[in-house]
Amino acid sequence: MTPSVTLADLGWSDEREAAFAPLAVAGLVPGRVVLEHNHVFRVMTAEGEVLAETAGAVKHKADGRQALPVVGDWVALRIDGTGARCQIREVLPRTTRFSRKAAGRDTVEQIVAANIDIVFIVFGLDTHVKARALERYLVVARHSGARPVVVLNKADLADDTAAAVAEARAATGDTPILVTSTQTGVGLDQVSSLLARGRTVALIGPSGVGKSSIVNQLVGHAELATGEVRGWDQRGRHTSVHRQLVVREEGGLVIDTPGMRELQLWEGDAVADTFGDVAGLAEQCRFRDCRHDREPGCAVKSAVDAGALDSARYESYLQIQAVKEDVLKKREHRALTESKHTAKVMNRAMRKLCTERDQQR
Ligand code: GDP
Ligand code: ZN
Repeated sequence: MTPSVTLADLGWSDEREAAFAPLAVAGLVPGRVVLEHNHVFRVMTAEGEVLAETAGAVKHKADGRQALPVVGDWVALRIDGTGARCQIREVLPRTTRFSRKAAGRDTVEQIVAANIDIVFIVFGLDTHVKARALERYLVVARHSGARPVVVLNKADLADDTAAAVAEARAATGDTPILVTSTQTGVGLDQVSSLLARGRTVALIGPSGVGKSSIVNQLVGHAELATGEVRGWDQRGRHTSVHRQLVVREEGGLVIDTPGMRELQLWEGDAVADTFGDVAGLAEQCRFRDCRHDREPGCAVKSAVDAGALDSARYESYLQIQAVKEDVLKKREHRALTESKHTAKVMNRAMRKLCTERDQQR
């Protein structure tokens, strides 16, 4: 229990307050999801933490899994006076959301965390800067709606920090870049200063680059103060689970969910954002639908040949573009099947309705 935490500390805003007004009238209380464990949610409210389950209505409204609550979500709760589990009656609109492809059904978008303001893309300076991977993470970050900030960690192991930053800069454009080390502490206060009161951050990046180490440095106090929370496994036994959204004593919130760690490239208009230079060149291609592959008069290919566009960057663009097209194609197919199904169901219902009406006559 951290009763000293206010809604503003949790990221509540005037806009959210205004949007919530009708729900407040209905006797619902706002809260933010800090942990999901076997479909039970731990929700922080102005009065402290409660356990909650989703109301049947929320489940029904849920189109796919998108409308179900995730860590970071603001929800409207019906508080149970008897001390039993509370009910989540509504998931409030998300300002940003991180998604990935759900395992097995690769065209279903699964949201893993919501309402993240800044996403730190962490890479290590112990190895050569992997510009292509960095570009991919940027695509994911931009697509979420959160503001990306690149963090080059393990500065203590860097051979030539300035060169590494320049290399990263070539891939990231005007995205801010911070250089840190959890060993020497360099740059950590810059990271920390971005965690203003009520602002939510998350960290993504390859494993082993120091994300957990940075989180520990950022939330050290909060974690000591709150410790582990108790959850339930499938058989209803108590288990220990780590809080996935932590409020810092110094202000700011950090989201660290298992889902965030397995983020995959999902899709993106963000592709165009990240590859703005390629998109700019593409406007000069002879054909509107140029795939920048073997088409004549391709401005992108000419730029690569002339050395004006880095060929590895060009390859990376083609790869991401291919993945994106594949995802979109599959989704289109799914949508088509679903709309056919919907039409069938509707027709059947209409026929039934007509027959009933005829019989009543
Ligand atoms: P994660 O997989 O991204 O969460 O990475 P971890 O935080 O688990 O760190 C991976 C390893 O790198 C651990 O052994 C850390 O102690 C080490 N590490 C993290 N940050 C730094 C750093 O700034 N400098 C050095 N030299 N090692 C670091
Ligand atoms: Zn072209």
